[in-house]
Amino acid sequence: MAETTCQKCGMPEDLCVCDDIARDEQKITVKIDTRTFNKEMTVIEGLSEDVDIDTLSSTLKSKLACGGTAKNGQIQLQGNHIRRIKEVLSDEGFDRNQIEVKN
Ligand SMILES: [Zn+2]
Repeated sequence: MAETTCQKCGMPEDLCVCDDIARDEQKITVKIDTRTFNKEMTVIEGLSEDVDIDTLSSTLKSKLACGGTAKNGQIQLQGNHIRRIKEVLSDEGFDRNQIEVKN
């Protein structure tokens, strides 16, 4: 019986958690923040460091036709874009399974 081992950590597949860790690290969360001026903001967090958030925020702003800012690894978009954000992010190459939308 051939046992399959993980190529990253060398552990047998059933003990390996590499995939779980990678998935957790890349979890993108989208939430609505209403704290600022009682207006709804769509906040995108958890983007990995190799994402150029300035470019991504420009793309999102033009696709969703809204204003917004990118800072400290976080993108804030004016308005509530919860319904479209997954679609737009997946168009940009993000995995839908890594995007968690919170209400
Ligand atoms: Zn592993």
